[in-house]
Amino acid sequence: MEIHNTTEDTVFSAISEICASIEKQGNPGKFCLCDQCRMDAACFVLNRIAPHYIRSNRGAARIDQKTLSRQQQDADTVSLVLEALKRVSHNQRPNTDHTRGPAKEIAWGPVFFNIPTIIGRAFNGANFSPLADARVELRREGKQEEMKNRNWENPCTLVANTQGTFTFWPESIPAKDAGARKNFEYSITIEAAGFEIQRHFFEVPVISESGDAESFSMNRTHTLPDLYLFPPGGDED
Ligand SMILES: [Zn+2]
Repeated sequence: MEIHNTTEDTVFSAISEICASIEKQGNPGKFCLCDQCRMDAACFVLNRIAPHYIRSNRGAARIDQKTLSRQQQDADTVSLVLEALKRVSHNQRPNTDHTRGPAKEIAWGPVFFNIPTIIGRAFNGANFSPLADARVELRREGKQEEMKNRNWENPCTLVANTQGTFTFWPESIPAKDAGARKNFEYSITIEAAGFEIQRHFFEVPVISESGDAESFSMNRTHTLPDLYLFPPGGDED
């Protein structure tokens, strides 16, 4: 089960549309419409309107199109976006390249499948205590998966004070178009001395979107069922 702030969808999409229409009119207000300034504008707006969270158990469930366009056309949202672009343009980050770069086919930056953080727990199946000193590896398509950054380890080692919990944040995967749905197939392999290897296969459905999750602090999680390891030589199923 995850939660998702649909206000982010509304704001990102509103900014994208408003910038497109400003460009079409020849940008009379001389706003900077570079990616960095759009992101700053998004933060400005998101910090001023109420978030709206929904539960989404399919991982990437999104706000429906009708609600999106209704919220987007909301006069308050539009005027906030315009105010944000104006303020951001007048307070541009000095050490940022404000050119938009080569023309892109899509409205806003490159498109990614932003993989949620994967969270699970491993237990000793004989006495239900959390496992420690176990090696946990995340693989996708048979290969060890790259992590988002160096703060995340793969494989990781379960240590005694984490109650058997492990987390992975996979690197975002480049996509061709926004809005494409794809199931990514992963496996978790847990190895600990005195136990049979546990392998768990699962799928994570993701919808591609503009931007790398890191930039937008979209915190999503995919929670696995609890996994149990047993000593070798137990009864067959
Ligand atoms: Zn700029």
